[in-house]
Amino acid sequence: MYFLLPFRFRSIQDKEILVSELGNYLIVPRGTAADIVNRKIDSQCDLYKDLEAGAFVSEKPIPDLIDNFAIRLRTKKSFLDEFTTLHIIVLTLRCNQNCTYCQASSLPSDAKHCDMSVEDLEKSIDLIMRSPATAITIEFQGGESSLVPDLIKHAIRYANKLNESVGKQITYVLCSNCIDISDDLLSFCKDSCIFISTSLDGPEQLHNSNRGKKDSFQRVKDGISRARRKIAPRLHSES
Ligand code: SF4
Repeated sequence: MYFLLPFRFRSIQDKEILVSELGNYLIVPRGTAADIVNRKIDSQCDLYKDLEAGAFVSEKPIPDLIDNFAIRLRTKKSFLDEFTTLHIIVLTLRCNQNCTYCQASSLPSDAKHCDMSVEDLEKSIDLIMRSPATAITIEFQGGESSLVPDLIKHAIRYANKLNESVGKQITYVLCSNCIDISDDLLSFCKDSCIFISTSLDGPEQLHNSNRGKKDSFQRVKDGISRARRKIAPRLHSES
């Protein structure tokens, strides 16, 4: 015999969606909620294990589990304590690739009037620095962020200056396809402790097809090698 824990359910056609107080959910055949309530779920079946793991049922009475649930709920909702910690700044819509999956509606590298203005950038950072979070991440995206190195440098110098009176722990991340990232920008990343986030899409043919450029795979690989040599030469020579 198991104990019931609070959960909600809703029928959708021939299915039911069950949602526990901890926010876990299961999509199950219609009628399952009634079976759970009527204690008809076999404790040896996979569904029972899912119900127990998701805090729909329990083999212990609720009081024994309250502390455990409180910890799980607190962990799940911890973002509410710290408010927004990840801040993404789209510096430009321009890009030197043409990916099939691009979610940024990127424009050609030489497109006009699609870089963020310095004024908007500073306003964005002012807003970010007002976040109550004590530790934040500022991520620079695009388009291709490395096409606007001066904006990146300005953003980090401006944020660091503001932070002298705010005292947050700031992690900077530069999202780049690494196609044309310059040695100057790599040196700046090293000196300013900026993480670089980049990606290959898989094997060369797939990657080049995705990116809409014949030489993309090799150029990304070269860019990653240059970044590793410049930023972490010791690690690079050991690998
Ligand atoms: S590299 Fe990024 S921004 Fe550029 S086209 Fe591809 S997905 Fe879009």
